[in-house]
Amino acid sequence: MSPLTPGGLASGPQGPKNLRPLLDTVLDALETGAATRPGPLPAGGPAEVAARLREALGEPFPHHGDEHALHTLVHALAAGAADPAHPLCAAHLHCPPLAVATAADLAASALNPSLDSWDQAPAASELESLVGRALADEVYPPVGRTATPDALVTTGGTEANQLALLLAREKHGHVQLVQAENAHHSLHRATWLLGLPEPVTVPAPAGTMDPAALDQALTALGGPPGTVLVAATAGTTDAGLIDPLPDIATLCETHGARLHIDAAYGGGLLLSDRHRPQLDGLTRAHTVTLDLHKLGWQPVAAGLLAVRDPRDLHALGHHADYLNADDDTEAGLPDLLGRSLRTTRRADILKIAVTLKTLGRTGLGALVDQVCDHATALAELIDVHPHFELYDRPTISTVLFRPAHATDTTVADVRRTLLTEGRAVLGRARLDNRLWLKATLLNPHTGPDDLAALLKLVEGHTPR
Ligand SMILES: *Cc1c(COP(=O)(O)O)cnc(C)c1O
Repeated sequence: MSPLTPGGLASGPQGPKNLRPLLDTVLDALETGAATRPGPLPAGGPAEVAARLREALGEPFPHHGDEHALHTLVHALAAGAADPAHPLCAAHLHCPPLAVATAADLAASALNPSLDSWDQAPAASELESLVGRALADEVYPPVGRTATPDALVTTGGTEANQLALLLAREKHGHVQLVQAENAHHSLHRATWLLGLPEPVTVPAPAGTMDPAALDQALTALGGPPGTVLVAATAGTTDAGLIDPLPDIATLCETHGARLHIDAAYGGGLLLSDRHRPQLDGLTRAHTVTLDLHKLGWQPVAAGLLAVRDPRDLHALGHHADYLNADDDTEAGLPDLLGRSLRTTRRADILKIAVTLKTLGRTGLGALVDQVCDHATALAELIDVHPHFELYDRPTISTVLFRPAHATDTTVADVRRTLLTEGRAVLGRARLDNRLWLKATLLNPHTGPDDLAALLKLVEGHTPR
């Protein structure tokens, strides 16, 4: 093993020298750890996994340090990981990160810029501003727009949804959220956090917002323009469905309501020429949530809130003399504090920028097309299979299915058995008042044999 300087730093003249041997250690431990798993998950379920981790960890904070801790703990974490790069790991919107994005993220950790003031992040702050605007342009293309849109970097869809509600409230002093039954839970939680009234919830009978019900709700609410915020979803977490965005946008315009679109999942379709038309209407939203740690193959965290009118961001303006003194701002030091509610803030933009530039539009579009194709292929396999029932053709990359004639209890048991054995990770979703197995396909390199193997595993684990 290479000599380790426990107090060695990651940046500075010795940084690369200190890091290089540690990278070897990390890569080796990732490999040996993963090799102990029978599949995408460790075998044995929560109790056994916890016991092995406790054993590996030993004393969490010993009196004298242990130079093998890096290897020990990375090995233990890899051995006990749910590996999203395994083709049979398909439960959640939990993507396998790109190697190039992960390498960039290491550089962000080493350089450790903090995006709350220019003097902690001179180049990173400019990169964030340029790439944020380029991503905002994807949502709000330059043709026909009246303002230059912007995008804030967030920790994910949850923070982006919270900010969307906050910006709406600050614009009008008050806001009533209207959402559908299919809305992500983070929106309801954001109303609670911000002390807003309970959301008005309209039905989503086929898994998407019912425009007629929205029309009724907006008529009933009335109120001055903008005090109602409609939140639509492009890519529901359960089924990957997209609300009828053009109809919803028209209703919002007619009733003077503000529109937010939670495209944490579906926003990734912007990257594909083939699938982008499914997002028609997105441009008409005041704010849009995106999540590049879903269909964007970024390590967590990589969320964004795109804002059509940058004046809406003035609400976040904030002053702290040590970070953005007026005379510093007047002298030309960029004021960054109004770009987030956080203070110290990681350069998550670096991995995003490296990914966009390395893969380009065609490269990222191809990844989106691949996962959507896999979903179509899986749905076809299920549809012709005598022992499975398909919920519906996929809209994005989520496929819901269940063993034919199984009870909900059996569906839940099959899922848990596969998890406990460590063989496959499938999600679950309740739709039409029945429990479905959910395959969320985010791995571009999954092959047809993997999909067939997944079905075979489920079939083999279903009692008849
Ligand atoms: C994932 C998701 C969120 C939450 O995003 P996080 O990144 O987990 O905070 C919000 N809305 C939708 C539709 C999602 O799929």
